[in-house]
Amino acid sequence: MSEELDCLACGACCRTGSDGCILIPPEDLTRWRALGRHDVADAVQPGHFGLVAFATRADGSCVHLGTEASANACRIYPIRGTTCRQFERGSPQCLEFRRDFGVDRPG
Ligand code: SF4
Ligand code: SF4
Repeated sequence: MSEELDCLACGACCRTGSDGCILIPPEDLTRWRALGRHDVADAVQPGHFGLVAFATRADGSCVHLGTEASANACRIYPIRGTTCRQFERGSPQCLEFRRDFGVDRPG
C-alpha cells in the first residue's frame, strides 16, 4: 500500500497547520550549513522541546512546500529534514493527513 503513495504528489503532512511542530534536530542545521544551504538552515522558527522547526506560511504549510511543477512537492526533497524522512508513508497518521486534505478523494 505505502509504495503506491506518492509523497511528491501529496504533501499533506507538510501542511500540518500549526506552527513549530515539524521539528529540526541540530544535526540537520549542521548538515545544511555544510552544504552551503544557509537559506534552509535559516528558514526556521521556534519549535517544541527547545528545538527549532520548519517555518510555516500563513496557511500552515511548510515554507519549502511547492515547486514550479507541483504545489505538493517538497522543494528540498533530497536534503529534507530528518523528521520528514522518518515520517512513515502509509502509517495511520499519514493516511489521516491524506484524508484530511482530500488527497484520496475520488475524482
Ligand atoms: S501524508 Fe503520507 S503520502 Fe503524503 S507526503 Fe506525507 S508521508 Fe507522503
Ligand atoms: S521540508 Fe519538505 S518534506 Fe519536510 S515538511 Fe517541508 S516541504 Fe515537507
